Amino acid sequence: MTDGTITWRELWGETERLVGDRPMARWICEEAAGLDGPAFLDALGEPATQRMVHQLDSIVGRVRGGEPVQYVLGHWAFRHLDLMVDRRVLIPRPETEQLVELVLGRARDHGAPIRCADLGTGSGAIGLSLAAELPLDGTTVWLTDASADALEVARANLIGLGQRAANVRFGEGSWFAALPVDLRGCFDLVVANPPYIAEGDTELDASVRDWEPSTALFAGADGLDAVRAIVGDARAWLTPGGSLLLEIGHRQGADVARLLRAAGLCDVTIEPDLAGRERFAVASAPG
Ligand code: SAM
Ligand code: GLN
Repeated sequence: MTDGTITWRELWGETERLVGDRPMARWICEEAAGLDGPAFLDALGEPATQRMVHQLDSIVGRVRGGEPVQYVLGHWAFRHLDLMVDRRVLIPRPETEQLVELVLGRARDHGAPIRCADLGTGSGAIGLSLAAELPLDGTTVWLTDASADALEVARANLIGLGQRAANVRFGEGSWFAALPVDLRGCFDLVVANPPYIAEGDTELDASVRDWEPSTALFAGADGLDAVRAIVGDARAWLTPGGSLLLEIGHRQGADVARLLRAAGLCDVTIEPDLAGRERFAVASAPG
């Protein structure tokens, strides 16, 4: 792309031509311009500086090379948060925003005080959203991951929470083993978006496979290894009547429902995502 007197309107059009997607072209231009939302639209008639055009070229080059735009930009919106993301963590997905909505519904029914855990937190998307959206008083949210790298990203994202950061705790380790043992039986809500892709899944998008952390995606031959591990221990860590909410693969509903019942959990339901596909499993501990 050339510089000089080229305006953001022209650069947006040129970027769209190069990346083949108008909204994506806008995010990229906003990043290079250091402006967003209405401020970017206000600047459409203004020329870009040479430095901005240089940055735009570099972002476009990486996106055209196949790198997910979220990693190139280095941050991504999730519900009310702008989360730092890089290759250490899964890019937070829109369906996971819905999972948070399900958890918030349960949390509101429960009331304060409430203790929640987000197992396999990655960028912190789920747990930090809960901490951001639940009442300041009486909320505690544990964020765990087996990946120390992922926890570094989640910790960095705590900054976006202001006062509510005080309600967040971190634990490193495999699923429930990351939590203090004296909190067994003390969690009102446990939520996870675990890895649920089967090894060798041929439907998985190439850019997901090539760029996102494999430890965030793959869970054994049937994709259910992580779900089995979490479900197997959930009852022991939940309060009586506490709930477990999981994001699952869209063909895993029946198998996950069976696992939940076999683990002694009750009121098992499988909920759809916005595309109408089975995407979430919800269950409660008896009592
Ligand atoms: N919660 C984030 C989200 O929804 O965007 C990330 C979900 S990603 C699908 C799964 C996460 O589980 C990854 O961050 C991965 O490091 C973590 N994970 C994988 N195996 C784990 C284990 N045994 N114990 C705890 N976390 C694990
Ligand atoms: N939703 C992701 C994908 O299909 C998978 C995330 C996961 O394994 N939890 O790209």
